[in-house]
This record gives sequence, C-alpha cells and structure tokens, in this order.
Amino acid sequence: MGSSTTDEPLAPVSFSSLDRPIRFLKGVGPKRAEALGRIRIITVRDLLYHVPRRYDDASTISPIATLDVGMEATVIGRVRSRGTIPTRSGLRIFQAVVRDDSGMITCSWPGQPWLDRRIREGDLLLATGPVRFYHGRQLQPREHIVLARAADTAADGARGTIFVSYPASEDVPQWTLRRLFDEHLETLLPLSEEDEYLGDSERRELGLPTLPEALGRLHRPDTLEQAEFGRRRLAFDELYFLQLVQARARWEKAVATPGIAHGRTNEFIRPLLESLPFELTAAQSRVLREIVADMTSSQRMNRLLQGDVGSGKTVVALFAMLLAVEGGWQAALMAPTELLAEQHAGRIRQWLAPLALRSTLITGSAGAAERRKNLAAVAAGTVPIVIGTHALIQKAVEFPRLGLAVVDEQHRFGVRQRMALGEDASNPDVLVMSATPIPRSLALALYGDLDLSVLDELPPGRKAISTRLYSPARREDVYRLVDAQVAAGRQAYVVFPLVDESEKVDLLSATREHERLARDVLPERRVGLVHGQLTTEERERVMRAFARGEVDVLVATSVVEVGIDVANATVMVVEHAERFGLSQLHQLRGRVGRGSDESWCLLISEGGDEAAKRLKVLCETSDGFAIARADLRIRGQGDLFGEQQHGTRPVLRFADLLSDERLLAEARQRARSLVDADPRLEKAQSARVRGVLERRYADRLRLFGVA
Ligand code: ADP
Ligand code: MG
Repeated sequence: MGSSTTDEPLAPVSFSSLDRPIRFLKGVGPKRAEALGRIRIITVRDLLYHVPRRYDDASTISPIATLDVGMEATVIGRVRSRGTIPTRSGLRIFQAVVRDDSGMITCSWPGQPWLDRRIREGDLLLATGPVRFYHGRQLQPREHIVLARAADTAADGARGTIFVSYPASEDVPQWTLRRLFDEHLETLLPLSEEDEYLGDSERRELGLPTLPEALGRLHRPDTLEQAEFGRRRLAFDELYFLQLVQARARWEKAVATPGIAHGRTNEFIRPLLESLPFELTAAQSRVLREIVADMTSSQRMNRLLQGDVGSGKTVVALFAMLLAVEGGWQAALMAPTELLAEQHAGRIRQWLAPLALRSTLITGSAGAAERRKNLAAVAAGTVPIVIGTHALIQKAVEFPRLGLAVVDEQHRFGVRQRMALGEDASNPDVLVMSATPIPRSLALALYGDLDLSVLDELPPGRKAISTRLYSPARREDVYRLVDAQVAAGRQAYVVFPLVDESEKVDLLSATREHERLARDVLPERRVGLVHGQLTTEERERVMRAFARGEVDVLVATSVVEVGIDVANATVMVVEHAERFGLSQLHQLRGRVGRGSDESWCLLISEGGDEAAKRLKVLCETSDGFAIARADLRIRGQGDLFGEQQHGTRPVLRFADLLSDERLLAEARQRARSLVDADPRLEKAQSARVRGVLERRYADRLRLFGVA
C-alpha cells in the first residue's frame, strides 16, 4: 500500500487483488468480461459490490393445505408427478404436483418446458410465488430450488431461504450472476478486508458489521434482517465518502479562507428588536444564534437557511445584515426577481426607518442615472445595506467592504447557482435562504458543504389555507368562488402546468384557457396572463400590474411560483394538479394566505386514485417539511437527485434518505472531524480512509488536492 509515500503529490495508486480485471476470474472469458463491463463490472471489486437489488423472502414455509388464492407463499414438498402441457396458443406449460404432510398443489411454469429436464419425480422442491386460481389452486413459482433428489432423505425437514436477484442485463442474465457468486463468493469475501477503514471500536459504536460480513449477508442472507444489516454498512460507506468530499469543500470555503470576525455592538440590532411590531419566534431566535455564532467567529460562514414560505426568513436576514453593519461592513441581499427585490427593499426600508440607516436597491431595469448614482453610493461605502437582483453580481457593482452576502434563492434546489455574490474579494460571509423545505437528510446529502439552519415554525396567528380537491366536473364551483372573492375585492391565481398543448395530452393550455376565462367564465373581471415564453420585461410588467391590483385574476404557468408576494390574493387555483410535485404545489399555495384574510387553494385534478391520494397529503397538512418527506417517499430519492445531477453529486445506491437519517448525521460528523483534523488526509490516522478513496472513489481524490 502506498500510504508511506503520502507526501508525494502524485502518489501511485496501488493495485490489489480486488482491482484485478474480472476476466482473470475462473469461468469468465473475454466475451463474458465484455458483457459484464457493460453493466459496469470491470474489476473483482465491482463484482463483489454488485449486490442484489431484490430479495424474495422464502424463509417462511406454509403448509400446502393453508394456501389460498391471492396469497404469496413458499412451500416445500416432494414432486408426485410432472409433465408439460401444450396450450392452444402454442405456449407450453411445465407443471409439477407437489405434496407435503398437509396436502397437494399444482405448481405451474408457463413457457418453461425445459424445466422438464431439471425437476424430476420424487425431488424435494422449494417453490415460492403467488397462488392463483386456474382449474383449482395453482402456485406459480417466481423462484424454486431442488433441495434434494428422490433417493436423498437427508434434506427432509429442510428450511426456507431468501432468493436474491441481481441487477442483470440481456448479456448477463440472472443465472450467470448467481453462478458467478456460487463459485467465487467464498474466496472473494475475505479480500474486502482491504477496503476496511473503520476501526473495530468505531464500527461497533456505529453498530455496523465488517465489510466481509456485510457483503456476505447482502449476497447470502438467511433472513431479510441480515440483508438490511449488510446494506446499512454499505450505506454508511457511501454517505461517509460523500460527506468527506463535501467536508473538504466546506473546509476550503470556510476554514482555509480567512473570514471576518464580525463584532457585535448592538447599535442597530437592539433598536430593531425594540421597534419590530412582533416578537421573534423561538425558531427565528435559535437560527439567529447560529448565524451570529458563525459571523462572529473568524471562520467564514456558509450557511443554508431553510424555512417554509412565510416562516419569516427576511427579518432573520436583516438581523444578520445589521450585525455586519455594526462592525462597519456592508451587507447585500440578492433576490431572484426584480419584483421580489423591490418588495424586500420596501419592507426593509420600513424596518430601517427608526434606525436611520440607509439602504439602496440595484436592479437591471432602474433608470441609468439613478442606477449610476446608487452604484456610486455603494462604491463609496456610504450605503451599508444593498438590495438587488442578479444585477448585484455584475462587474459594475463594487463593494469596498462587503461583509455579508444574503442570497434569497427561492428556486427548487437552486441554492448553488447564486453563490457568486460570496466570491467578493473581501470573503464575505454567505447566507443562502431557501423557501423549499426539503427533508433534513436530503439537505445534508445535497449540501454537505454548507451548514444548515432550519426555521421549522411559523409566526403565530397565521390562518390555515383551506385546501380542496375538485374533479374537472366541478370546475364551475371553483370559478364561482374565484368570482365571489374578486367581487369582494380580492385577487386570484390560476396556474397551469404548460403553456402550449403537448402533443400527446390534451392539456388545457394557459393561453387558450386565459381566453376562455376572460371571455366566457369571468367576463366582468380583469384577467392577466404570464408564462415562461414572455420576455422578462413583459412578465414583470404583468406581475407588477397584478401586485398593484390592476389585474383581478392572474393566469400563469408555474413561473408564479417564484417572485411574487401579493397579500390581497386569496385564491390559488391549480389546474391539472396531478402534474405537479407536492412540494411545488405547496410552494404555489404559499402565494396566498399572506394577508390576514381567509384563503383557499383549489386543486383541480382528473388523475386517478393514485393522484388523489397524493394530493390529499396537501389537503391534510400545511407543514412544508412533512410534505417534502411525503414527496420524497412517493417520488423516490433517485428522482430528486436526478434534478441535481451535476458533476460530483452521485445518486445514492445503498443509502435511503428516509430511513438512514441518523446514519447520515453520523457520517457527516465523522467526515467533518477527520477533515478538520487532517484536511489533506496526509497523517497516519487517515491512511486507511485515503486508501479507500484512492481505490474506490478515485474520481473524488483530486478534490483533496493530493492527486
Ligand atoms: P419568508 O421569506 O420566510 O417566506 P417573510 O420573511 O416574508 O417569510 O415573512 C412573512 C411575514 O411574516 C412578513 O410579513 C413578516 O413581516 C412576518 N413575520 C416575520 N416574523 C414574524 C414574527 N416573529 N411574528 C409575526 N410576524 C412575523
Ligand atoms: Mg422571503
């Protein structure tokens, strides 16, 4: 192993028996090796870590007499008779009558006449599968094994088993993989020792098996619990090495880069606390303490603030900005759209009025003269608080003393794109705010390089938004409510999933529906339209008109999801609600209920029961984090990670973000302490971890600056 030469920048990766190409394995010729390569099994290690995707639990044996149509069952019995029967369609069915002490049943394998050569009279057979009705009860085995031949009585009293199914391909069928493991697993398992990086005591603390043990149980479990025990070990490894890379990225940004130790004087923070018309919630106070601790330390802050729509992130951000200003620094807040930037600026100006602090707004569309004046004030350092859009990250904006950059990023998972503001020469602290709650585990896995603060409490006195599900047949009821609300001086959104009709589904398109609503349904009302194909200016113009109350009903595609805050809007109608993710719908719902009036979210959906079940989650809870968990459960983590597939962010193979939350927290904490103690993994204590990085995660090695 090359661990003694870790000082060399290009330490050679040492090859071991696990790194041997698969073609050197007995029974694997060049052709098979090629086929295996296509399912990414190139080395012996790849084979060993190619663990089953599915387990069929045939460990519980049922007496044949107890089988009922509709059950899944496993039986063990002797074959009394057997044969192949033809059918009119040309399909040949192999059948065997199996008997145990309690009774008899016919097992039936459609399309597998060749089993005639495998299963003989008198054999002791284990078979597992569904019980169907076809001229009486029939078992249709998904899996079976011949436990013993006729003459062999030793196997009487045989026990059940677990069948494993591997990810296979046309070239590498299931039975090939099973046979490879039958032949080689025993000899290969001990080799996995060399990938062990956890000490015995650490491993026991975590309640995890050794690698040979884990892999053994994954490939050959006696019970499903054993397979799960093995899986947890590989899940930990996966999470640990993911967190290791992220911990390293965090170290680079937060620890290795000199930060600003902001000094707190309370000069502005105290007066703001006193002049605010409300008390901070417990969650706001807690999150603020986390932020203050970061900002006053000499490490650089890189913090993600997650909070549901309306949880009060802006005021938290303002306190953080005041802390920076108290020490003589400037603070900037960047919003995703002009309208939101304006709204932030307006609100912040009000809050700052009693403090006699100046703020300015910088957007792309401001008049040239005014813009020049504002930019000059920023550059002269006379304006401590700057609010704007992405115009803030353009070259023309010069901050002499930027101490804190706040990015209000409301896009789903878009946290990363807007970090550029933090790349100012003064190494400002960075606070990213996200209004899309995602489960904590997903946040930790995606953003392991950021620290996480969560606002999990809404300010008191919020009225719940009545959320209801309608079939298209009851659309009229929906628009009657819209009309009544507009008559009462309120406003409404109507959201569609697409702008134009897609080729296969006759979705009501927003454009067509806008016409219909304006002409036939709500002829008395002012109906506006925004969609993604308008230019930014056109879109902002319509939204601004809506914000000023010059439009009653805003028809929109989901662009409205971001960038608009209109307290007078009380109804959110979503057409084809089944086309949206739950979290997205929750975001849309957050557009209403911003004032003190009763509000509604009306979901129109013609999806089947499945869709209705999903949408009911929304009717039953307003907790964004609960909804995000439900979304993760329903859509699966692959889907969510899929949206984030840039570069080094791998899909998790073994870890399950819903059930492995604690494991992830452990992995993160351990990865961080290792990187903090030895950021380049060059000390003796890191040799094994580094060895595994070299061998198993070579692609991530360069992030450590050692290869
Ligand atoms: P977010 O950005 O998290 O969606 P905002 O910061 O826009 O939420 O806050 C939503 C509303 O709640 C604002 O009108 C804000 O003034 C108000 N608010 C914030 N914190 C509190 C609080 N602790 N008590 C009462 N109202 C609050
Ligand atoms: Mg906000």
